[in-house]
Amino acid sequence: MRLSRYFLPVLKETPAEAQIASHRLMLRAGMIKQQAAGIYSWLPLGFKVLKRIEQIVHEEQIRAGHIPMLMPTLQPADLWRESGRYDDYGEEMLRITDRHGRDMLYGPTNEEMITDIFRAHVTSYKDLPLTLYHIQWKFRDEIRPRFGVMRGREFFMKDGYNFDLDYENAMHAYNRHMVSYLRTYERMGLQAIPMRADSGPIGGDNTHEFLVLADTGESEVFYDSAITDLRLGDRAIDYDDWDEVAGICKEWTTPYARTDETHDEAVFAEVPEARRKSSRGIEVGQIFYFGTKYSEPMGATVQDSDGNKVAVHMGSHGIGVSRLVGAIIEASHDENGIIWPEGVTPFHVGIVNLRQGDAETDAACESLYTALTAAGLEPLYDDREERAGAKFATMDLIGLPWRITVGPRGLKTGVVELTSRRTGESEELAPEVAVARLKEIYAGHL
Ligand code: ATP
Ligand code: MG
Repeated sequence: MRLSRYFLPVLKETPAEAQIASHRLMLRAGMIKQQAAGIYSWLPLGFKVLKRIEQIVHEEQIRAGHIPMLMPTLQPADLWRESGRYDDYGEEMLRITDRHGRDMLYGPTNEEMITDIFRAHVTSYKDLPLTLYHIQWKFRDEIRPRFGVMRGREFFMKDGYNFDLDYENAMHAYNRHMVSYLRTYERMGLQAIPMRADSGPIGGDNTHEFLVLADTGESEVFYDSAITDLRLGDRAIDYDDWDEVAGICKEWTTPYARTDETHDEAVFAEVPEARRKSSRGIEVGQIFYFGTKYSEPMGATVQDSDGNKVAVHMGSHGIGVSRLVGAIIEASHDENGIIWPEGVTPFHVGIVNLRQGDAETDAACESLYTALTAAGLEPLYDDREERAGAKFATMDLIGLPWRITVGPRGLKTGVVELTSRRTGESEELAPEVAVARLKEIYAGHL
């Protein structure tokens, strides 16, 4: 993409309404525009990051054997009357009446609808296990939308639902979700710690929230610092192997890690003092096992191998896709702007032309652009007639992890400059070496 042809409405001033860094930076970098309280347009740069995150979520869900689909945003109220939640859900639910006077709602979540789909089509234990998910907009009429996309009213969420014959199978589904979530966040350059949580209005006994440690988080968390040393890395995982998957969950759930809702001082006191930490955290996901809470009242049953009708065991599992955009920025920025992890960056590399209009410099930028594209990378080329300082400031603000600077002085000796946004370190390299270097850096992310 050439910046001169892109739509990147960066702001010079710091917007007064934004209280936290991610909100400020998303507005300044021209990623979002607020349309009403807690409702945002995703401008091209923000949209790109949102789509990158969505793609990683899809890939890791599919790898775990979960099946993508799409349910609508609007739902009939009658489904929610069956589960009893239409009245329970309260003012967070946006209720709508259509022209025929039928009660509808903008879905805050999809347990009822997925249970309705299941009961319409699945009748035998032979069709289990089954996990379906979608990534769709949700609406919750939050009393205090704030922090930009972190607590919106309309937000983008992955929600998945497992259907299993019994508790043991459902717990394997639970574990599979935990491991696939760990991989998902790691690929985004994030550390999200699974913490024992409270089940709240959805109900159920087994639940973990995934929290990113950040001063601006809304939750108070307590943990054994040993958990922050754990990494999945690129280990091969067989998601059908119950013991292997359970073993990984055990690794991550053995060190103490809880939110304030389940925190227990007595248990925490057993952690060696130097490793006892408390901090703030951003909830970027949650997994639940809730058994037959929906399948029983809604009649989602299968015939087991003895011919008995049994209600299926379910769980639901969510990732805050749009919240993650903010959470990643909270975890990765400095005073000059965003610092995108390679896994989610909107463009892989920025090209800064220091002498726009100089035939040789322009040609070098063009050929670099072509070579990067041919290598499967997506460059953003700042080809505007702007001072170098302004171009650098824009690149720092929008946070591309790598920048190539091209100027007449370097070209005399056949080099360009490759700079890391994170460390600020630069290296002078021949253009083709810079391309090869970037290809290597992004090898695990393309
Ligand atoms: P919270 O406690 O932050 O209100 P929740 O526990 O009600 O969230 P879940 O029902 O667990 O939310 O939804 C799954 C994920 O969706 C959450 O972990 C969070 O990342 C995201 N999410 C929930 N509410 C919002 C919101 N208002 N804006 C953006 N993302 C949200
Ligand atoms: Mg939650």
